[in-house]
Amino acid sequence: MEPSSLATVSADPGTGPTPVDLLRRLRARGAGDPVTHVERVPARAGVPAPWPTWAPAELRTAFARRGVVAPWQHQAEAANLAYDGGHVVVATGTASGKSLAYQLPALATLLADPRATVLYLAPTKALAADQLRAVAALELEGVRPACYDGDTPRAEREWIRRHSRFVLTNPDMLHHGILPGHAQWSGFLRRLAYVVIDECHTYRGVFGSHVAHVLRRLRRQCARFGATPVFVLASATSGDPATAAGRLTGLPVTAVTEDASPRGGVTFALWEPPLLPPDSGAASSFPPPQPTGGHDETADLVQVRRSALRETADLLADTVAEGVRTLAFVRSRKGAEVVAANARRALDDAVPGLGDRVAAYRGGYLREERRELERALLHGDLLGLASTNALELGVDLIGLDAVLICGYPGTRASLWQQAGRAGRSGQEALAVLVARDDPLDTYLVHHPEAIFGAPVEATVLDPANPYVLAPQLACAAVEAPLTPADLALFGDGAKEAVDELVAAGALRQRPTGWYWRHRERPEVDLRGEGGAPVCVVEASTGRLLGTVDGGSSHFLLHAGAVYLHQGVSYVVDELDLADGCALVHVEEPDWSTHARDVTDLSVVSVRSYVDAGPVGMFLGEVDVTSQVVSYQRRRIATGEVIDTRPLDLPTRELRTVAVWFTLSPQSLAAAGVQAADVPGALHAAEHAAIGLLPLMATCDRWDIGGLSTAVHPDTEAPTVFVYDGHPGGAGFAERAYGTASAWLRATRDAIAECGCETGCPSCVQSPKCGNGNNPLSKPDAIRVLDVVLANLPA
Ligand SMILES: [Zn+2]
Ligand SMILES: [Zn+2]
Repeated sequence: MEPSSLATVSADPGTGPTPVDLLRRLRARGAGDPVTHVERVPARAGVPAPWPTWAPAELRTAFARRGVVAPWQHQAEAANLAYDGGHVVVATGTASGKSLAYQLPALATLLADPRATVLYLAPTKALAADQLRAVAALELEGVRPACYDGDTPRAEREWIRRHSRFVLTNPDMLHHGILPGHAQWSGFLRRLAYVVIDECHTYRGVFGSHVAHVLRRLRRQCARFGATPVFVLASATSGDPATAAGRLTGLPVTAVTEDASPRGGVTFALWEPPLLPPDSGAASSFPPPQPTGGHDETADLVQVRRSALRETADLLADTVAEGVRTLAFVRSRKGAEVVAANARRALDDAVPGLGDRVAAYRGGYLREERRELERALLHGDLLGLASTNALELGVDLIGLDAVLICGYPGTRASLWQQAGRAGRSGQEALAVLVARDDPLDTYLVHHPEAIFGAPVEATVLDPANPYVLAPQLACAAVEAPLTPADLALFGDGAKEAVDELVAAGALRQRPTGWYWRHRERPEVDLRGEGGAPVCVVEASTGRLLGTVDGGSSHFLLHAGAVYLHQGVSYVVDELDLADGCALVHVEEPDWSTHARDVTDLSVVSVRSYVDAGPVGMFLGEVDVTSQVVSYQRRRIATGEVIDTRPLDLPTRELRTVAVWFTLSPQSLAAAGVQAADVPGALHAAEHAAIGLLPLMATCDRWDIGGLSTAVHPDTEAPTVFVYDGHPGGAGFAERAYGTASAWLRATRDAIAECGCETGCPSCVQSPKCGNGNNPLSKPDAIRVLDVVLANLPA
């Protein structure tokens, strides 16, 4: 690519091109127009409200000093509800000032009652640190706000417990530290007036279900000390936030959703990278799928479109060259590093040194590195940043001129939150969604109504998941014996879970309740089955580069994996699962690595089913066994597969919830699917169905797994399974079952509308396929889905 107007590079945000001009220049770069749709999101004027009469002058003056002259309507409405003692969730857009909605009642109460306390929970330490700065900057007498998390020095902890009246922490610390130490916290909990739960939409799936019970444990301890705090929650825009917040807290919650803050207009473009010309190296090696036969490396993923990462890197380089302050959201940490590295290279090729104004950012970075990057972007030393969604979580970066979203982030709620980073108040900004070659992305850039005309998704969590409920009840029992009244607090399934804990010897029933029998506390990780994070350590120096969550470590940190950190490439020497660390050395090979796993599945029980003649649709429990068995090395430049190398990693077992459908062999034959093509037809339908499920539920394809077979021993029929990738399920398969006909209709359309001939990653190929995307039959997948849709009731 050739960045233009390099001479005009400027960090001065006032001089950049308008979004419309910028977009026109970007789309004129290559042959053909990659833009499939442009949506104009209009600017909105703010609606201010008077300060609540109960807000003391001292507090109003403090806010005024920070530039807040009056609250917006939604802030005042939520604050009034909370001050009157109602539980409230404020669910409005990015940068709409949700924090004022809880700071106002919480701080007014702290000023009015010198004994009252406030507990603030954020999903990340970085966000809590941000909020601490905001509250501390108000300089209110006697509030003494303090963060209490894993980074808090031991020496300060006792002071905080005794003297801070505004404690900022995270659910993990509440679970591991504060609740087990409730005796030391009794003074604080006894006087607890407000519990603030920030970014509460992040508590979804299994993690959300755990947090729901941690909050019930908190309420139980408060009740023992005679306190009944008011819960104030802040959420990104989401569908039905009152219900989600109610499930999370177990309390009736009122929602405030009318955003009254001002917003600049956004020009929102949908961008589909071009198909590579058929004579290019990559496309010419693209083989037709093999209808039968075993594992064939050549049938693996070969790009037929330009990759979204490369397209985003070029767009980032182009916007930076235009002097436009740009944030690129990339879904994976690896992807963010690749985008930053490619953009830097492109800029340096044009003007040596210009690449320094682009950097990568992701959650696993150490605190100092994160802070430095945030500072540099705010001050304009950096113009371009490629980030994972770590930045989505409230780190205070606003006022960007352009946001590039590399790949649909999985939910409309996330999409809007990321796009919401663009635009200072009153100023126009550009947002671009760059489609990956993935069935969902392809569907969306050709169905803009599914983005711009649809409500955002509801946050799904399931506190009744027995794999969450039982360990949480065990934790609660350690904190204080469980009573029959507690069972109502913990909700559906609590009695059964307690009975099982008694049968397993973990609890003992006595007249006064159920008691924990062991000396040690149960080990419960809120962040799901992932286990403890794995540390990435440079072998020669012992330097800690960052961390990777346990669940991803088999995929990302196996021996031989290429691991990128801050644009520097490392190769893993050894993954030590026992010690939870991976040793790496600096090396920059010209290939990337891609781990593969194999999966086995058996049906445990059927929860619900639809008998639709030749078609059956089922929801039930399944056992899944999977193992990362090998990895491929692929040339970065062409995507060409160099080789596949075996790995020796332990298997992982999963009891979870699946949705599956069966078809009779006769119905397939009648639809024209040859017996030999049934495996490829089902496999292709399975891939696309997994790819489209995020349209229905707040999950992404990495939360879900699948398996298809021409005859499964448990169903004795051709079957496609789609399962939750979390123990006990996270509600995704259930949602798929509930929306089956809409889900499979979108799947069928996505395959049929894809411009490729024999199947590509935009329709039926999957980047995480354990079978090398073989066999796959695109036309037969459409026939399979037509049979299902013709028989299934709408
Ligand atoms: Zn295709
Ligand atoms: Zn597959």
